[in-house]
Amino acid sequence: MKPEQSRDFTERLEKAALSLLKMEVFRKPDDLARRFGLPLPVVRYWWRHSDQETEPVDVSTLSPKQAKIIRRATQTLEGWEKVKRYRPECGAALNNGKRCKNSVAIRPPEGWNRGCLADRCRMHGGLARRERKKKVNDDE
Ligand SMILES: [Zn+2]
Repeated sequence: MKPEQSRDFTERLEKAALSLLKMEVFRKPDDLARRFGLPLPVVRYWWRHSDQETEPVDVSTLSPKQAKIIRRATQTLEGWEKVKRYRPECGAALNNGKRCKNSVAIRPPEGWNRGCLADRCRMHGGLARRERKKKVNDDE
C-alpha cells in the first residue's frame, strides 16, 4: 500500500467513525473501537479532535438518507478487519535477489496520522518513526 493510499484509507475510517459517533449509533469512542477492532487510543483521539457535538438519530425511525450514511460508514469500518488481515507484502529487496513477503506493519496509534499501514514490514523499517529514505536502487 502506498503511503497516500494508507493515509486516504485512514481518513475514510476516521470520517466513518465520526459520523457514527455524531449520530450516536455508538455512544462512546471505545464502544466503536471494540466493535470494529480499531485501536482505542486512535478512536479516542479522533473524537477528541472533532467538535464532539452529537445529533442523535432514532435508529427505529431512520430516514433513508440516515440509513444509507450508517450503512456506508459501517461498511468502511468493517473494511478495517479485512485490511488488517490481508495486508500487502513488504516487497523490500533481499540479499538473495528476492523480495520480502512479510505483511507490511500496522503502525502504533501515534503513527496513524501517517496512515494505519506502513509501506514495509517491521523487519524493514515499517515501524520507524521517520519516513524511510528512498534507496536509489529501490525501483518499486
Ligand atoms: Zn520486509
